[in-house]
Amino acid sequence: MGSVDMAELFSRVGEELRTQEGSRIHRQLREATSGSGRLAALLQLSAMAEATPQGPGRLDKSRPAATEWLLRERDAGSDQERLALLNLAVQFAPTPGSEEQQPLELRDHGQTLTAALLRRQHVLHGCGRPEDRAANALYLRQLRDVLPEATSKKFEHELESVLAAADEQPAADEERPFKLPKIYGGLHYKLKRTSALVNPAYVEGKGRCLVANEDIPPGSVLITDSPYAWALGSDRWQTHCQNCCRRTLAPVPCTQCAAVVFCSAGCRQAAWNRFHRAECGILEHLRGGGLTPMALMVARTALTAGMARLRPYLARCDSYDITDVDPAAVYDSLEYDAVFDQVPNSAFRSILDAIRRGTLAIYLLRCLLLTELAAPPAELDERQQLQLAALLLRHLESCACNGFQLSELVPAEELGRDADDEPEAVELGGAVSATMSLINHSCDPNMTRVNHGRHLIAITTRTVAAGEELQDNYRALFHEAPRAVRQAALLERYHFTCRCSACRLHWPMYDRLSAVAPRAAVRDLLETGAQSESDGEFRSAAQAFAAAAQLVEADHDDPLQPNRLLVDCQGYLTRCLWLAYRL
Ligand SMILES: [Zn+2]
Ligand SMILES: [Zn+2]
Ligand SMILES: [Zn+2]
Repeated sequence: MGSVDMAELFSRVGEELRTQEGSRIHRQLREATSGSGRLAALLQLSAMAEATPQGPGRLDKSRPAATEWLLRERDAGSDQERLALLNLAVQFAPTPGSEEQQPLELRDHGQTLTAALLRRQHVLHGCGRPEDRAANALYLRQLRDVLPEATSKKFEHELESVLAAADEQPAADEERPFKLPKIYGGLHYKLKRTSALVNPAYVEGKGRCLVANEDIPPGSVLITDSPYAWALGSDRWQTHCQNCCRRTLAPVPCTQCAAVVFCSAGCRQAAWNRFHRAECGILEHLRGGGLTPMALMVARTALTAGMARLRPYLARCDSYDITDVDPAAVYDSLEYDAVFDQVPNSAFRSILDAIRRGTLAIYLLRCLLLTELAAPPAELDERQQLQLAALLLRHLESCACNGFQLSELVPAEELGRDADDEPEAVELGGAVSATMSLINHSCDPNMTRVNHGRHLIAITTRTVAAGEELQDNYRALFHEAPRAVRQAALLERYHFTCRCSACRLHWPMYDRLSAVAPRAAVRDLLETGAQSESDGEFRSAAQAFAAAAQLVEADHDDPLQPNRLLVDCQGYLTRCLWLAYRL
């Protein structure tokens, strides 16, 4: 997997830079003032020849492999094991109806796939959720329409009985709808998918931010953003939809490659149109070998934009004149210019960082040159290729501080643990959301950012007063980590020194915060919330905890002092919001 070992390549590059000839290039690299300058220096290294995709770019479907998994399923010990093997059979079985791109073996014509899906429907009755059975039944129905006559005859009776027994009425074949919450306070006139109660502002030395223009209570949804590009970690490619990032037990495979799956044919089509058509043939170059989901996300950013959109930016690849959000323009995360404008922080980066990201950018460029991005009539001359690599480098840099982690909070029982155990945060991948990137960090945040599939939702966890900045937490909460640890982590990853109240006033960590017994009204709300949470009513639970947070704030008049009860309320609220919006 992965046609190049990045760690090995980096050490090869490092070695060459330490040679006498390399020291000249090293100096050039240090003195370069632009991304394209650094890349031009790196390209002189002979080791850079190895930053080239090798071997097949597509994980091909294989009927023998699919048949093998189908056979092994019979000896599987548990339903989970059965399902895993059947899913592999479905993934690797050639798909009928896609003959133009991939000739089917004459003997197959969808037989393996049909057999695996029929079998899967049986197994899902034992261990699936209704939505998984519905998804599988829907896919079987769609498949039946494209099966050659001989195959559909062969499976006629079984297909009829399985589909007749499918108790759920599957939805129409379209991209699965998201259930995004309503935005509090109406929509902003300029910031897409954002509340009218916040405004963009620019703070010298800190950059862009969002500021409340009136008091906003806890539990208010302020942003429901859709990322420009996103990517799952390759360990999730079998279990989560590449399009909506929903967990699925009945995945629908790509018709061309055996690498990725979707929750439905609708999501498959949406992803195909947006990025997968272009990447399907090079995906194996972009996984493994030390490449992170971030590299795939950057490749998808370029593929989503397309050459027509990128071309005007090639000449601007080295310009970093980012100041304010243009007050006259609509700000939309789904537009490439918003992604381009994200701060890459190039000036703060070390020479080692320049070497690593530069090498990666050159490798990504060479992968992308194999796709439709650079196919006629979009051919690029050498100068334009360097500019495109500089654009990729810029995105690799800005992703490091502006990219968001996609995760889901999974209840303990789903992980096979005791239902009373804490739910576990599972990392899925990453996403680029320019609007969310307008929000700065505080070790004492006033909001949380939850994922709804690939979507990012900003919800307040305490009152945000008029004039106060909306502040998220970049995984460094004051009550969980000592100040020195937080500050070091933030400086290293995000290149700033945090000056939040908790940092300035040296707030103590959780164990040393004084405990105050909640008054009766607060206690009642906390009990109601806990009851709703244990009943699985996460939205009601969140409402109760938000109301509790508001009461605690009313009793606590000094925002410069930490409050343990408020920290508790924010923690419960955050957890319930994550569970409520999980797809
Ligand atoms: Zn999906
Ligand atoms: Zn594919
Ligand atoms: Zn801080």
